[in-house]
Amino acid sequence: MGWKSKTALTALGLVVVVGGVVAIRTATFKSPTADTSGVKLAPARTVDANRAAEHLAQAVRFQTVSHQDQADDQPAEWDKLHAWLQATYPAAHKAMTREVIAGHALVYTWKGTDPSLAPVVLMAHQDVVPVTPGTERDWKHPPFDGVIADGAVWGRGSIDDKGSLVTLFEAAEGLAQAGFAPRRTIIIVSGHDEEVRGVGARAAAALLKSRGVKAQFVLDEGMVVVSDHPVTKSPVALIATAEKGYATLTVTAPDVGGHSSAPPPRTGVTTLAKAVLAIADNPFPMKFEGPGADMLKSLAPHSSPVVKVAAANTWLFSPLLVSQTAKTPAGAAMLHTTIAPTMLKGSPKENVLPQDAEAWINYRIAPGDTSADVMARAKRAVGDLPVKLAWVKAPDEPSKVASTTSEGWKTLAALAGDESKAPVAPALMTAASDSRYMGPIADDVYKFQPLVLSVDDTKVIHGTNEHVSIANVERMVRFYQRLMETAGR
Ligand SMILES: [Zn+2]
Repeated sequence: MGWKSKTALTALGLVVVVGGVVAIRTATFKSPTADTSGVKLAPARTVDANRAAEHLAQAVRFQTVSHQDQADDQPAEWDKLHAWLQATYPAAHKAMTREVIAGHALVYTWKGTDPSLAPVVLMAHQDVVPVTPGTERDWKHPPFDGVIADGAVWGRGSIDDKGSLVTLFEAAEGLAQAGFAPRRTIIIVSGHDEEVRGVGARAAAALLKSRGVKAQFVLDEGMVVVSDHPVTKSPVALIATAEKGYATLTVTAPDVGGHSSAPPPRTGVTTLAKAVLAIADNPFPMKFEGPGADMLKSLAPHSSPVVKVAAANTWLFSPLLVSQTAKTPAGAAMLHTTIAPTMLKGSPKENVLPQDAEAWINYRIAPGDTSADVMARAKRAVGDLPVKLAWVKAPDEPSKVASTTSEGWKTLAALAGDESKAPVAPALMTAASDSRYMGPIADDVYKFQPLVLSVDDTKVIHGTNEHVSIANVERMVRFYQRLMETAGR
């Protein structure tokens, strides 16, 4: 046998071995999430969806708008919302104790009969983002009129996050009226400034910590049931198990200014441009690990055979999975810390040389990285360019990653699956929520709103024509009611 035949035989042997390993791993592949078939779920109670929708429409009319500049906020609107909650949900208010902290944050405690059980914490914030100036007339119904039309509640906050706040109270009211008394304590935390500062949520976490609360789990807004998930092309209930950190870096190139008719060879702007490019051209490597990768692994059994084989054999197909996932910016964002240069400042006039040209670079830090890693990478990238690097404000580090095998996960995943009749998968949230401050009081913090939206539908959140269907309002009330009863009994 010649050397060519021997080489061919060796290559063939290798293919057979690799093929065998791939086949075995595919056949024995297990999702990273726990089996939830043993969870005993509380049955659904009747929901008056139209009444809940009417209540949500009323809540939308309070202009609890968080502005970048706090001086523009109208505190009286929060007071009105609080009074409305008390008037609209009397049984819930009788069953729970209510505390107002840090100005307008709310902490409700529905004391369980068994103090040895770790409480559950359910969250929904009161504030909403402003309507972008100039877009008011693009709304089908004015953003703060709370109009019900075409089978939906229209207005700013109808999803984010008064949708959750109101349906949580609808659920609690129904249960309190029915005489439900939880064994496990249920705590509702409602921050008043989630969209800007998160002062309310931080104060709530500190208060609960001072009382020795260690929650079984925390549930806040985040992901939803996506009706057209890009991987499966069908509905998937996504429960985020972590959220990315948030940091903004300023890059400043000091300069002396002067008249642009006699410029030096380099100005602050050219130095700054080099520095920004150096930072942007040194991206964090993408890795097929963490909650983003776990999502794909969980969906593999529901996906095409190609995805299934690849997800079961990351030892071989990791680079392929990364390149496929990274084809869209949203997919890439799940696999690494992102770098987004957003704002630039040069001189105030076309014929004036800049003093202190400045760029702002926004980072979303993936679990596993830290703000210190971000700073170190930026410093390495700019090398000896004469620029200064500084944080705009103290960075928010990424959250811990919550378990996908804990009792809390099992309860949420079983219920989300039962309500949506869709596969459930963990996910990474690339936006921020109040629940990122709950690390001190819980290991497992989940982010999920129990409503069904298409990828396209999600654009109304923080955008024009925010609205929620009455069918979704009904789903949310039912989910929270069953959750309180399942977790609380
Ligand atoms: Zn929100």
